[in-house]
Parts: sequence; C-alpha cells; structure tokens
Amino acid sequence: MNNNWMKRADKVVMNTYGRQPLVLVKGEGCRVWDDTGKEYLDCLAGLAVVNLGHAHPEIARAAAAQLTQLVHVSNIYYTTPMVELAEALVRLSFADRVFFANSGAEVNEGAIKLVRRYSRERFGAGRHRIICMENSFHGRTLGALSATGQSKFWQGFDPLLPGFVFVPFNDLDAVAKVVDDTVCAVMLEPILGEGGVCLPSPDYLKGLRQLCNDKGLLLILDEIQTGLGRTGKLFAQENFGITPDVMTLAKALANGLPMGALLATSEVAGAFVPGTHASTFGAGPVVAAAANAALNLLSAPEFLAGVRERGAFVSKRLAAMQAELPVIKEVRGLGLMWGLELTQEGTPVVAACRERGLLLNCTQGNVIRLLPPLVITDQELDGAIGTLRDALKMVFP
Ligand SMILES: *Cc1c(COP(=O)(O)O)cnc(C)c1O
Repeated sequence: MNNNWMKRADKVVMNTYGRQPLVLVKGEGCRVWDDTGKEYLDCLAGLAVVNLGHAHPEIARAAAAQLTQLVHVSNIYYTTPMVELAEALVRLSFADRVFFANSGAEVNEGAIKLVRRYSRERFGAGRHRIICMENSFHGRTLGALSATGQSKFWQGFDPLLPGFVFVPFNDLDAVAKVVDDTVCAVMLEPILGEGGVCLPSPDYLKGLRQLCNDKGLLLILDEIQTGLGRTGKLFAQENFGITPDVMTLAKALANGLPMGALLATSEVAGAFVPGTHASTFGAGPVVAAAANAALNLLSAPEFLAGVRERGAFVSKRLAAMQAELPVIKEVRGLGLMWGLELTQEGTPVVAACRERGLLLNCTQGNVIRLLPPLVITDQELDGAIGTLRDALKMVFP
C-alpha cells in the first residue's frame, strides 16, 4: 500500500525531487508518521519550515478561526492580519516596510527588483549588478536562480538573468575587487544553508556592511533559512552585529503555510510605488493569521534563549562524535542549524537514519544537515544524535 502511493505519484507528478520512499500522513510536535504507522523524529522540519513543530495548536487555532472569517480579498484592500504582521516584523527588525509574497524565491525576486529600481532612481541607468556568493542558494525561479551561485542548478535553463557576479563566501577582498559603478548591491545568506552550513568568519559580515556603506551599495540578507529563531536569535544577523538594507524571510514565517516577506528600510522601500510590484496571495488573511501566531511564539526572548541552550548541547555532542568517528571531517553550526561534513558520500547515512526512525538530509553530497523543530527537547536531541551515530557507524564501520 505504501508502494501504491509512490507509484501513483511517480506516474503523474513531475520528477523534480528525488523523493525519499516515505508517504507521510501525520505530524505532531517533532514527530511525523508514515502510512504504515511508523513514527519518525523529524530533524529536518520541512527544511527549517515547521520551527514550532508540526500541527502547533495555537497556529492551527489562529488559521482555523480566520478560515471562517475571511479567506481572501485582493491586495487592493487592507486586511487586519496583514497589518498586524507587518507591524510585528517592523517592531522586531531593522526594517521600516514589508512586502508580502508566498515563497522564498518570490521574495528574493522582489528583493532583486527593489534594489534595481532603487538604484535606477538614485543613480540612473547602468548600476544594476548584484554581487552574490559562490555556493549560495536563493531559489528556483529564474531571477532567484540567476543569483544562486551553483551552476548545477542552472543546467539547461540558460540564458539566465544577466547582472549577477559571483565571489567566494568569506572573502571580503574578492567583493571589494569586483565593486565598480555597475554594482548596486551585495546579496547573501548570513550562513550558507543549502551550500553546506558554512558560517561567516568572525568579522566578515561587519566588513561587508562597512564596504557597502563606503561604496554606497545595498546589503541584502537572505534569512529564509537562517531567520525566525533558527540560530538562537530571531534573525541570524543579530549574531554578527549587523543589519542589512533589505532582508528576505519565508520558510518558518507561517510555520508551514506558504508565506514570504521582503523587508527594507523606508528609504529603499520607497522605490516601490503603486503598480511596481504585487502578489495575488501575499499575506492573505489565513496565512497572515498563522504567521502572527507563529511570530509571537518565535520572538519570545525565553524561547530564543532555549534554542541557544539546546544549540550548545548539540554542539558539545557533535564535537564528541567527531572526535570518535574519523568519517566526520568537520562539524559546523549555530543554534539548531548544523552540518556534519563527511569524508564520504552522505546519502547512505540519510537512508540508514530513516530506517532507524530519524529524518534529516544531506546537502552538497557529503554534508549531513540537521534542522530540527526549535521546540525539540534535549532528550529528543540526544536520541537523534545517538541514532545518527549508530547510522554512521553502520555505514562506515
Ligand atoms: C529555501 C530557500 C530559498 C527558496 O525558498 P522557496 O520557498 O523554496 O522558494 C531561498 N533562499 C534560501 C536561503 C533558502 O534556504
């Protein structure tokens, strides 16, 4: 019966994912269940989406109440959950203005359009290029893909959008070298997520902020994966003592309902005026109500302190495991965003963990990535790390 759903899917669904052989039917907290009733500890959280865990009752209540009130009207009208959410995001961040859309790629498209238009108004034509990072990930739509510094994702889709230049992450001189009067912005993830959980070196982001100030460039931070509590701060930038001019959020914003937000200072946001940008579903009342409930929980100082504490626990446990298992080349992470770089291909480890009831993933071929719900307990983390250790020892005896 399990096979049946997978076979049916493979006949009618486009083959874009290389899916795991699992049909998931239920989720609660940090656990999900497949259609045979087998339970899994979810240490991927929909890829940093369900930061508050599956089927969170407060979020479900907020969305359900809104479903019976007002589901959709055009964005040519005001709606109350949208206003509340924008106010909360402005209160909690560097930003003065927010634009809402439905996904990470879509808000990154918005960020690219916004900085181009701001630059055009302020400096005139020709200053539209954006410096991006090698190994970055910004999404799959053509603009976001063009900003993504991994050629494997480009294959067969060219010509891409012109106007992006790539430099190695963590190399300030490389950025300085390519700045000229055709460049309007620098765009990056504060921690490379899909690129293998790569952290910035201590003064890199501060240096980048300074360089942007000196050269009149806008700094765009893609916090789609790192934001909303993932690193133990509401936004990862807070760990590094900087603020951007533009920021994108998505993934965890409505804890599983589709929503993205583009945030900017009022000066930059002023480049968007009526008619310049839009999204039919952006901040619809139901997702906005869910996001208000989620953001309220995610932004609580004691909640974020708990994420930092559990992050320190994971750090210690993974360091001990690295000392024990030579297949682990490096352990990198912050808060509850962790990568274990292996000396070997990591996919068999994902399968071995899955068989043992643990869900996680592998990126860049050899980086095992852990992105558990932020509500995970020490005890669950302990179990997950124990399972991962067993799987590593089984696959690489
Ligand atoms: C997931 C992700 C995106 C793309 O988000 P979608 O909602 O899948 O379009 C963009 N940037 C980063 C850093 C991401 O992790």
